[in-house]
Amino acid sequence: MPMFLCPCCGEAYFVPLAFSEYILEEHFSKGWNGSIAPARCLACQGQIHSGDAVVVRNGKGVTPAGDRQEIPANSKATVVEVSTWEGEGSIFLVRLSSGEEVYLTRAQLSLEKSRRAR
Ligand SMILES: [Zn+2]
Repeated sequence: MPMFLCPCCGEAYFVPLAFSEYILEEHFSKGWNGSIAPARCLACQGQIHSGDAVVVRNGKGVTPAGDRQEIPANSKATVVEVSTWEGEGSIFLVRLSSGEEVYLTRAQLSLEKSRRAR
């Protein structure tokens, strides 16, 4: 199984060949090459909407006051607001279980597993 990088978060993951052979072939024919995966990794799949339960994967967030804050990995949080700029992706305001709110990117979040299996 080849290993690829998620085009959203950069996480390395395996793509089962049997599963993606057709997609890979199509990408190659369009000039795609290298190790960028033809699809986002599992954690980056799925739309995140306000009200969704999410898990913070890693990194620092920015508080509404503008301070950078380290968020412990695997913190549970609830999405309060989604800000989208055309072509530039989204920023998510999430409320941690401590009640604090921070801004994070899609690549730092994943949907809680129970929600993803909808
Ligand atoms: Zn990803």
